Amino acid sequence: MQLQTLVDLTPHNTFGLPAVARAMVHIDSDAAIPRLLDHPLYGPMPKWVLGGGSNVIFTGDPAELVLKVAIKGRRLLPTQADAWIVEVGAGESWHDLVRWTIANGRPGLENLALIPGTVGAAPVQNIGAYGVSLQERFDALDGIDLTTGQPFTLTGDQCRFGYRDSIFKHSLAGRCVITRVRLRLPRPWRPVLDYPDLQRRQRESGSGRPDPQQVFDWVCALRRAKLPDPATVGNAGSFFKNPVVTADRFAQLLRRHPAAVGYRQPDGRVKLAAGWLIETCGWRGRTMGRVGVYAHQALVLVNQGGATGIEVLALARAIQESVKGRFGITLEIEPTVV
Ligand SMILES: Cc1cc2nc3c(=O)[nH]c(=O)nc-3n(C[C@H](O)[C@H](O)[C@H](O)COP(=O)(O)OP(=O)(O)OC[C@H]3O[C@@H](n4cnc5c(N)ncnc54)[C@H](O)[C@@H]3O)c2cc1C
Repeated sequence: MQLQTLVDLTPHNTFGLPAVARAMVHIDSDAAIPRLLDHPLYGPMPKWVLGGGSNVIFTGDPAELVLKVAIKGRRLLPTQADAWIVEVGAGESWHDLVRWTIANGRPGLENLALIPGTVGAAPVQNIGAYGVSLQERFDALDGIDLTTGQPFTLTGDQCRFGYRDSIFKHSLAGRCVITRVRLRLPRPWRPVLDYPDLQRRQRESGSGRPDPQQVFDWVCALRRAKLPDPATVGNAGSFFKNPVVTADRFAQLLRRHPAAVGYRQPDGRVKLAAGWLIETCGWRGRTMGRVGVYAHQALVLVNQGGATGIEVLALARAIQESVKGRFGITLEIEPTVV
């Protein structure tokens, strides 16, 4: 357990927002957590868990003790008749894991390539991209309750996954550290190519049935073309969730805006493209002080240099108000605001 005080969090969040942690502990093993909880000074302090910082907006200095999760390890567990099972430490990089599973003949995560951040945060947000979400590749996770120090294991049902949602944003918010995740990768492998962009790539490549590496390469190329690289432009990916509306509401919207973009959900409702709503309100490429709306994708807010979290939220509110005013639809912020 390594402890630092007065830690600059700017390099620890992909938006590059300034904040200082009074104290930060590197959690590099399960055993470090009970040791921390027993610590006379730091044990009783309120705690907040940080992974790769790619889904957080710091609006000030966190009052809590920051636990930086750095638990490593990747294991291929015995193959089952219908799935490969992989166990991964929460501090591993998600994208490195995707690459490693493909290299080791365990495909299934390729649509989720290039999502920044750690494995431990993936269930919190139930990450998703290009037609696949974590819950469809999830087996179970291990964690430690920060109030009792007790280890626990949760299955997919117990995680209550929803669209960019899970129990870790509700009753377990701030209460636990996820230490290890087990993924269940269905076999035989079948490519998921429902997304029009992927279908186009497949047509262009002329390959009848692509292999996992090809899908991985297509997803990486598509993402690189659409999203800013946090290493050069500070951002947190999609800033708003895609709002889900009833089919009637979508029909009304289409009558007024025939170009409205929506995806029908299994329950009959329609997921609207928040990027389209924002772009239609004229925000794409606009800036407000040191924060801007990315010119190639209106769903992404970017740090133009030296922005603060308060400035980011001011732009987010202005966007929310104009979308509400024009469409009557409330946009919900996706990253965790600290
Ligand atoms: C360029 C870019 C593209 C992105 N694209 C996508 C995308 O396609 N799909 C998608 O779903 N997301 C996307 N994201 C968002 C982000 O990458 C994911 O949400 C990712 O899972 C966050 O991981 P992290 O380790 O950075 O989490 P952090 O930002 O550090 O933390 C996020 C939340 O999880 C909690 N947390 C983190 N680790 C743990 C743990 N071990 N135990 C308990 N709680 C924990 C934190 O307290 C916080 O509330 C993108 C972000 C960027 C910058």
